[in-house]
Amino acid sequence: MANIDKYNFAGKKAIVRVDFNVPLDENGHVTDDTRIRGALPTLKKILADGGSLILMSHMGKPKGKVNPKFSLAQIREDVAKALGTDVKFAPDCANADEAVAELKPGEVLLLENLRFYPEEEGKPVGIDKADPGYDAAKKEMKERQKDFAKKLASYADVYVNDAFGTAHRKHASTAVIADYFDKENKMLGYLMEKEVKAVDNILSDIKRPFTAIMGGSKVSTKIGIIENLMDKVDNLILCGGMTYTFAKAQGGKIGDSIVEDDKLDLALDIIKKAKEKGVNLILGSDCIAADSFSNDAKTIVCPANDIPDGWQGLDAGPETRKAFAEAIIPSKTILWNGPAGVFEFDNFTGGSRAIADAIVKATDNGAFSLVGGGDSVACVNKFGLADSVSYVSTGGGALLEAIEGKVLPGVAAVKE
Ligand code: AMP
Repeated sequence: MANIDKYNFAGKKAIVRVDFNVPLDENGHVTDDTRIRGALPTLKKILADGGSLILMSHMGKPKGKVNPKFSLAQIREDVAKALGTDVKFAPDCANADEAVAELKPGEVLLLENLRFYPEEEGKPVGIDKADPGYDAAKKEMKERQKDFAKKLASYADVYVNDAFGTAHRKHASTAVIADYFDKENKMLGYLMEKEVKAVDNILSDIKRPFTAIMGGSKVSTKIGIIENLMDKVDNLILCGGMTYTFAKAQGGKIGDSIVEDDKLDLALDIIKKAKEKGVNLILGSDCIAADSFSNDAKTIVCPANDIPDGWQGLDAGPETRKAFAEAIIPSKTILWNGPAGVFEFDNFTGGSRAIADAIVKATDNGAFSLVGGGDSVACVNKFGLADSVSYVSTGGGALLEAIEGKVLPGVAAVKE
């Protein structure tokens, strides 16, 4: 694998996999350009060296079909503004030879959404996993995926992967394409390097106490990482909607709170494992319960395991916030994924705010703090605290898989 800092892009065409999967409003305007800005160090280095840029990304889930709603043409101006230079556009990512041939050093070409082609994800379309022909269809699609990746590779002299958000996927543009470049001409971009290093800090260079805070709506989507973290952390804070699955599992009364009834045994198992491993498991003791799922609902403070019928826990209560802060503030390594309440409603952000404030304090005291996953990143942005933690990851699924200890195909492909 080459090193982006040492590589000289002068006179080279570089194809860069970026994560420009940015949120758009109903008029197709970018509402948050964090991901575009995240790629700038890599893109600017290539242009400054005298290289030309071919940018490729996915946006949304068009499921292998052309869909104007997900066209990257909508973000062309935003990319141009961020880069401070004109951006050309290729309306068909698999037929861009002419546009690529005309590309001069210092110029930028943005390819249309890769996922307009099913080959990008490499999953057979229109056939169910249970159908008898599925395996054959999958095999055929894998061959088509290779051809698609080869086509993309043919545009460029060098491949750079800077899309951490999709690094856990073995897609044509994130992994398969790397097979068509020799190891001197493929590399991670600056953003990817930073992300990989942040995960490494969490996994291999743990300063104690290590506190992980896992929130969000469900325990089922976080179980892999919770189990993995159990071997590493001193304190494990589980908050958000999963609080009520744990409360019910232990015989509590949770009113109308969100619950995964099929995960009650799993919750008890997590409690048992934490005890066996000597992990200090901290669950919400009290909550802010609401009489409806809305920002303007009436609220009461009550024990998380004694919520009246007709009420639902939507945020961590004051006692809980205090307990979370007491664990977080003296910590030296902190990982936060998932909010402590329905933070999208302004009246239920208090628990997440308390966590964010405690993380900022710990960071001021020298802790390494990593915040990752769409919703917790949205939280720190909402509170204006993104610059006050050590690292805000752009990856949701990719970050969790990396911390679970899984090898990310997007990273492995360029390293091979
Ligand atoms: P996840 O996608 O699993 O990380 O969950 C994020 C979502 O969890 C956010 O949209 C929150 O609104 C939601 N959430 C957090 N706490 C609760 C709660 N107590 N009840 C319902 N939803 C919640």
